[in-house]
This record gives sequence, C-alpha cells and structure tokens, in this order.
Amino acid sequence: MRLAVGARTDIGRNRRRNEDSMLVREPLFAVADGMGGHRGGNVASQMSVQTLERASLGHRADGEEAGAAAVLEAIQEANRAVLERGNAESDLQGMGTTMTALLVEGERGHILHVGDSRAYRMRDGALQQLTEDHTLVQEWVRQGRLTKEAAERHPQRSMVTRALGVEEDLNVDDVIVDLEPGDRFVICSDGLSGMLDDDTIAEALSDSPAPQEAADRLVDMANEAGGDDNITVIVVEVLADERDARPGAAATTGRSAPTESVAPATAGVRAEPWAGNGRPSRRRGRRRGRALAVGLLALVVVGALGGFVGVRAVLNGQWYVGTSGDHVAIYRGVPSSLLGLRLSRLERVTPIPAGEAVRFQRSLGDGITTGSRAAALRIVRNIQQELCRSQNSTCIPGGLGG
Ligand code: MG
Repeated sequence: MRLAVGARTDIGRNRRRNEDSMLVREPLFAVADGMGGHRGGNVASQMSVQTLERASLGHRADGEEAGAAAVLEAIQEANRAVLERGNAESDLQGMGTTMTALLVEGERGHILHVGDSRAYRMRDGALQQLTEDHTLVQEWVRQGRLTKEAAERHPQRSMVTRALGVEEDLNVDDVIVDLEPGDRFVICSDGLSGMLDDDTIAEALSDSPAPQEAADRLVDMANEAGGDDNITVIVVEVLADERDARPGAAATTGRSAPTESVAPATAGVRAEPWAGNGRPSRRRGRRRGRALAVGLLALVVVGALGGFVGVRAVLNGQWYVGTSGDHVAIYRGVPSSLLGLRLSRLERVTPIPAGEAVRFQRSLGDGITTGSRAAALRIVRNIQQELCRSQNSTCIPGGLGG
C-alpha cells in the first residue's frame, strides 16, 4: 500500500511545554503523550518514540520490516526504560507516557495502544475510533456508572489507568485493521480529541484534500477551541495506486528515505469509548484476558498510591475539599475510589465544622475538586468567610496559613 502522510505537533495555548512526541517513519507512526512534573513528561514521551524508532531502524538494517511483534517488544522495552529512569532520577520520578502506534503491514495495520491517545479510521465519510481510552472515566462508562456524555465533561477525565513507565508488566492493546484505498487514519493525543468531538474531526478530514492540510486544520481547530493541551495529529492516507498520489500529499513509498520526526508535543482532556460497526478484529494483551486486565488496573492504582509512578503524577495534580470526620479537610487526589481503593490522601484537616459548612457548600459532601493546593485553600477560606458572615458564633479566628 502506498501512503501519504501529514503530521503536526503543537504546544497548544495553555501549556508551558509540549510533552507530546511523535514518530513518522513509514510504515510506523506513533504519538506519545507524556505526563509527570518538571521535564518528566517530555523525557518519557521522547524516550518512548525513540525506542520505537530504533526498533524500526534496526529491523530495516537487517533487511526486514519491523513486524508488530517487534514494535510490541519495543513498547515493552520503552516501558522498562521509562520506569527505570524515573526511579533513578529524582526529578523524573513519576513520569510516564501514553503510546498509540500504527504499523502498516501490506493490506492491514496494527494499532498498538496504551493510554488515552487515540487512533481513528475515516472510511467513506464515517469516522470510527479504533482505540479504547485507558482512563478512569472510561472504566466507569464500561461499568455503567457514568454515561459517555458525562465522561466527556468529567473533571477526572484525564486520569489514565494505563501508561508506559508505571509498572513492569504492561498490557498493550493490539487492534488489527484492514486498509482500503481512500482510508485515512488519524493518530492523535488527547489535546485533539479533548477539544473536538468526532463529528468535527470527521468534517475537518473531509474538507482537507491532503493529509498535511488535514493535520494542520485539526491542530488549528483544537487551538481555536481553546487549545487546553498539547496537540499532536498524524494523518495517514492509503493511496490506491500511482495515479492517486495527489499534488501536495507527501507520498512516501516502501523503504524510501524516512519522513523523520521525533518532536516533543502536548497535554489535555479526553473523551469517548471505542465504538464501532464494521469492528476491526481486536485483541487485548496477549497474556491475559479482560478480567486480568482489570486486575492490572487495580495494581496500577495501588502503585499510583504507593509509589512514584505515572498515574500518581496525575493524581498529585488533583486536589479537593471535602470532609474528614466532623471537619472540613483538604485532600490530594480525587474524591473517588476504584475497585475499593481510595484515590486520594488526606493532606490537612481544618478547624471548620463540617456540619455547618455543608449547609453553605452542599457539594462538600461529594468533594469540591480543584487543580492545586492553593486553590483548595481558597475554597476553604471562602467557606470560612461564609460561615463568619452568617453566624458570628461559629466564626473561626485566625488564618489557615498557606
Ligand atoms: Mg495530553
């Protein structure tokens, strides 16, 4: 199959760094969305795509294409490398990354996937999501505890349940899809899928004659929608034959010179479940079935709470104000539990009586989520002021400090 490819990564409008990385080296295409403080996210995503790139090049040097098994092994290798380096270097602790890769092998493709970046296929004007988000909210959708629509707006929609760099034992989804001339595959970070719904993505694809134009348009539209996160988009089009090589489409063939690109990129939000008709044959991790995959999820969460691992980096960026016993309290994490495990830890109990505070802040019972300790403290101060204003008798003197 001849392919035409367009790709772009962009920092978006609200991030200081681009922590996405991408690999465009036919027949292998990948997007990695890093997470972790300081430079961790950046390092994790770059290390991972570089590992894939080396695997791809190594096989080519041996005169063979990198098969799906080789790419899978490279993802496992990247997982171990990110984990080891995160444990070894204090400023990289807790780093991790998503990985969504498309490997084209003749008339079929492998989608190898961990995390909440996505792969889509556009065929005959219809867009189909080929990957399932490995996120907490997606797990809740699957359990019937949350609707798809609610998941798209949920404050914890960015929490991933699977990532590279979290655990030694990594479960990689392997989705096999067939390729037809005219198909367009989109691999993207959540900086795209979190900002644009599927209909909008489909429309932008239809309106763009060439893959590069489509990638540019999608990035621009995600920025226009707010650009909350880094945005990375790779568009791979399957060409029918020589005559279909359109002007402006950067057609690449077989073992041509690599269309390089290992670039740092994004962050953001996420959305909906894998759903489809004309379903691609889909294999979950090779060594375990679905039930065990859930077991792994539990392990990841245990790891997240117990050690410096990727998911913990996400949890650490979440705060909420709730109650502890009879008092208002500040927690780090999210006011939820997963498989019986709490996803938060108590950071501070305030002297404010919970019973009275709940009268002013009904949502206190569920937990008021926020993105920083300072913001949580502001919420507590507001509650305190409300109480002071209404009932002098319960006014708590003194500040809460920082
Ligand atoms: Mg992202």
